[in-house]
Amino acid sequence: RFQQAEGNRLPRYVRVNTLKTTVEDVIDYLKREGFSYQGTARSLQDLSHLSGKAFVSDLHLQELLAFSTRMDFHDHFLYKAGHIILQDKASCLPAYLLNPPAGSHVIDACAAPGNKTSHLAAIMKNKGKLFAFDLDAKRLSTMSTLLLRAGVTCQQLANEDFLKVDPLGPEYKDVGHILLDPSCSGSGMVCLRNSSAEPQERDAGRLEALASFQLRCLNHALQFPSVQRVVYSTCSIHTEENEDVVSACLQQNPGFRLVNLLPEWPERGHAPLPQCLRASTAETLTHGFFVALLERRPSENEEEN
Ligand code: SAM
Repeated sequence: RFQQAEGNRLPRYVRVNTLKTTVEDVIDYLKREGFSYQGTARSLQDLSHLSGKAFVSDLHLQELLAFSTRMDFHDHFLYKAGHIILQDKASCLPAYLLNPPAGSHVIDACAAPGNKTSHLAAIMKNKGKLFAFDLDAKRLSTMSTLLLRAGVTCQQLANEDFLKVDPLGPEYKDVGHILLDPSCSGSGMVCLRNSSAEPQERDAGRLEALASFQLRCLNHALQFPSVQRVVYSTCSIHTEENEDVVSACLQQNPGFRLVNLLPEWPERGHAPLPQCLRASTAETLTHGFFVALLERRPSENEEEN
């Protein structure tokens, strides 16, 4: 366990935007600026000792670089030009695990401000269709700026309630992949956890309302006729918003099952869902996070083959 990894002791993670550049080019650029590249981390321990201008490639995600906690890239050319995205490691997991192929049709159900949307577009190589919804017009407009800077072109943004999007709409008939990252308590965010939001966030009524919204969204995602894979994520540490939502959804949708995610990942979903991932400052040097991947069960005929 990384006892001292709380608060501002997390590594600073940078995702290379492969729509605009390559990991090699970013590493070379930074080396020319005096940064010192230490190769690929072999253990999480290697991420916890970074200091000064040292940086490493992450051991789980190829396009992720990790820097010391003090590094700030907000004014850096690579960030302003959209070559790098400042995104916590845990928040890179959903798109990476959903892994939609180039040319596929994908929905990002609660998308703004769009870091996961731009990650999906990079994985899809900007080929295919990426429908992104958000209820909040202001967040959606921030998102268009972010996507423009990141060079994303395969998106279709809509200021809509995902729960009101008709799964039988002809434009969605080929949607095979859905990323669902709905509003949650945010209890996994280190900055929130240390603030006065804590006592209130445990408020049972609020959690219950969030969990019921999350379950409705997840059930809704499974209604799209061609959907094969749905990734569900939250930045909450509460079982009510994570394992409980997924368990209830699986019970109501026996045609879907969980995919066992990254066997090498150290922190698992709470019993009875070890197939899911959890993330935390203490175990994975990230913010608190939860990810589940649901897939459609093969039909009986397919299973025979
Ligand atoms: N996936 C985003 C990212 O990585 O940048 C973060 C999403 S944030 C956790 C949840 C978002 O869901 C908020 O922007 C919120 O406005 C949006 N939202 C809440 N209810 C919604 C609904 N019914 N339909 C669509 N979006 C919704």
